[in-house]
Amino acid sequence: MTDEGKRDFASEFLMEKAAALAPLVKCEGDFGRNIRFIVPPRNPEKNAQHLVFFSKDTKDFHCDCRAYALHPEKGCSHSIACQMFLDKLNEVEKP
Ligand SMILES: [Zn+2]
Repeated sequence: MTDEGKRDFASEFLMEKAAALAPLVKCEGDFGRNIRFIVPPRNPEKNAQHLVFFSKDTKDFHCDCRAYALHPEKGCSHSIACQMFLDKLNEVEKP
């Protein structure tokens, strides 16, 4: 497999996980510059709950999970799930 193929596979896997998590996302509220989300685990026996912050200043997501800490540029399933959650809200708000 080429590097390109590996990356596509990884991001596809991430998107799949994020799509499964998106309906579970709970918005904790708007804290001025940040919006805070809780992403519950898909499988509570195997995964932990994570906290995701969205910064309105930088338009960036930050997650407290290990995957995000290791590769913040790639993001993680939790932050992508919150992005999907926000996209869906914006869709609903459109006339
Ligand atoms: Zn995460």
